[in-house]
Amino acid sequence: MINFKLASSFFTLICCVFILFIVLELLSIWWLIISLLVGFILLGMVSFTMSWNCFTQAFTHKKTTKKIIALTFDDGPHPEYTPKVLALLKQYEAKATFFCIGKHVEKHPEIVQAIINQGHSIGNHSYTHSNTIAFKSKQGWLEEIKRTDALITKITGVSTKLFRPPFGVTTPHLAAALKVTGPICVGWNIRSFDTFFKTPKIISNRVLNHIHPGSIILLHDKQENSLAVLEHILQVLHTEHYDMVTINTLYDEK
Ligand SMILES: [Zn+2]
Repeated sequence: MINFKLASSFFTLICCVFILFIVLELLSIWWLIISLLVGFILLGMVSFTMSWNCFTQAFTHKKTTKKIIALTFDDGPHPEYTPKVLALLKQYEAKATFFCIGKHVEKHPEIVQAIINQGHSIGNHSYTHSNTIAFKSKQGWLEEIKRTDALITKITGVSTKLFRPPFGVTTPHLAAALKVTGPICVGWNIRSFDTFFKTPKIISNRVLNHIHPGSIILLHDKQENSLAVLEHILQVLHTEHYDMVTINTLYDEK
């Protein structure tokens, strides 16, 4: 993990030196512009790449040769699609993990309970999942995490130890909040892009081409195309004798 305060102090110092040199007409202003641009690009890259573990340690896969794999579903529960996902998982005797958004949990508690009743795991995926969530303060993140944790526990009696950042974005403020709340920050190493591509065949082939023991697959239980994708993935993994387990089981695997 990088020391963000140290890195940002060093970057600020470099910029100050450049400004001084620019004022003294020893450097062109382009040095400052390009440095700022590079700084912002680097910040964006480390924020969006959980597997680099820059701000917080993330669980993105398990190093194992055992044919186990974790299917994960984000952004539910959805009143139409989550029950259909559950039915497919049951048909193939697969277990999965659902990273639920708190405000949806509040609206559909019966689906949350059904997820637990069928032996799957639930993770926290923030309360609002707002487009600006990455700019939250430590306190803002704590409110997002604690509110959703409390809802899940109230409905199911289960306290989740899993958290997945919305959009997969980690920040120093989120890392500080996770140090207080303590859950495992869960990422993935196979992104389906099922919210981006529309054709199920393209999405499932993309996933299946990257399958490896110990992988974590990211899907969404909020849309129609994910159902066909899931069915194809389940058929192939079943044929190849993969055991589909929850994140908790994958994490605890020796
Ligand atoms: Zn999400």
